[in-house]
Amino acid sequence: MAKMSACAAAEIFRRFEAAAPHPETELFYKNNFTLLVAVVLSAQATDAGVNKATPALFAIADTPAKMAALGEERLGAHIRTIGLWRAKAKNIIALSKKLVHEQEGEVPSSRAALEALPGVGRKTANVVLSVAFGEATLAVDTHVFRVANRTGLASGKTPNAVEDGLMKMVPEEYLRHAHHWLILHGRYVCKARAPDCPNCVIADLCRFKEKTRLEPPATKPAAKRPVKRLASKPKLRSATRTAKARAK
Ligand code: SF4
Repeated sequence: MAKMSACAAAEIFRRFEAAAPHPETELFYKNNFTLLVAVVLSAQATDAGVNKATPALFAIADTPAKMAALGEERLGAHIRTIGLWRAKAKNIIALSKKLVHEQEGEVPSSRAALEALPGVGRKTANVVLSVAFGEATLAVDTHVFRVANRTGLASGKTPNAVEDGLMKMVPEEYLRHAHHWLILHGRYVCKARAPDCPNCVIADLCRFKEKTRLEPPATKPAAKRPVKRLASKPKLRSATRTAKARAK
């Protein structure tokens, strides 16, 4: 696929901004710590699924100290509906303890310190840096990965390759919100199985070869013409009967 021009990339984000000037994460959170926990829980799970479990959890544990005190078992009972909950519970308790002991109970604002926390990889750190600290990072999740590759904004076989490509392609003024625009576009329009290309605001700029098209209007089956009955048959019969009667 030929590389997209800088002009086209800028136009894509200009349209995203016009459609949603202030995109936000759809994860429920109350502060930087609960944001970090919600993002850890959202790995290989949907935001909607995480949001079902977190309000009750954050009502009793919205700081690292409270979460550490809750313990793995009771935390597990709150997040059992979320995929990989056992490993996530273990990581969340461990990262809470680490925050209490090494960061005075605060979520750090440096990538290195974030990535040193149990269960926190580059993607989670990028989301926290962007949402909590306003940094121009670009977390590549499954939606961003798909939209970047389909559109031609940034092709790559790994999230890191796509992140590098996007960081080069996204104009600086759009970097702050690019992650959320791409996520929302992937979640609601450029869906994995059936992209809604006919209703996509960037369809003319997208380079995906297998765009979906508007279905042609369903053609009505031709109405059956009423079969005209031959009016002559009865006459023929009556004529025959008349002839027979005459012959008698
Ligand atoms: S035109 Fe289709 S494939 Fe391209 S970004 Fe839009 S929805 Fe996705």
